Amino acid sequence: MARYTDAVCRLCRREGQKLFLKGDRCYTEKCAVDRRTYPPGQHAQGRRSKVSEYGQQLREKQKAKRYYGLLESQFKGYFNMAVKKPGQTGENLLSLLESRLDNVVYRLGFAMSRPEARQLVTHGHFLINGRKVNIPSFLVKPGQVISIKESSRNLAKVKSVIEANSFRQPPKWLDYDRNNLIAKVIAQPSKEDIDLPIEEHLIVELYSK
Ligand code: SF4
Repeated sequence: MARYTDAVCRLCRREGQKLFLKGDRCYTEKCAVDRRTYPPGQHAQGRRSKVSEYGQQLREKQKAKRYYGLLESQFKGYFNMAVKKPGQTGENLLSLLESRLDNVVYRLGFAMSRPEARQLVTHGHFLINGRKVNIPSFLVKPGQVISIKESSRNLAKVKSVIEANSFRQPPKWLDYDRNNLIAKVIAQPSKEDIDLPIEEHLIVELYSK
């Protein structure tokens, strides 16, 4: 499947905020958003002009898409699923995105970034209810238990990331047993559980045109 292969820091600079796509580096002074506060491109410096309503909606969608590392077709697929669910479409959309297994792995602190979490899932390091799942887009549901494979727990890389993230609080919808590296999904994620600055109503407006 086609993937974005250009420098990911450009995506953050385009959105004008940190999307935390590079792990450790995002928390240091090397972060490109902190060093260059203008969009990428040769003539972009000083060009942040007034943005139209459509432009705001588009940027909000792009930002959400990039946070979760999705392609347009994948993102639109989640939107279509959100429309069909009862409740508010925007909140359903955020809940679906947040329920992705790669996001859960990141939220639990098993990876420094969502791209890294995606790779770990693809390489088969995680179990759902004791069975290997290597699909990053797998949507976790209440009652399911996420754990890291026994043989993966002692990998130096995994250990150091878990240690580095030990200060991070998991979201309330995940009951995380830090000692045993097991988490149970106790609820669907709600908007309040998602700490990303996404104005989901703008995305709904964009796709409703
Ligand atoms: Fe974005 Fe991280 Fe790069 Fe900073 S270092 S621009 S937050 S990907």
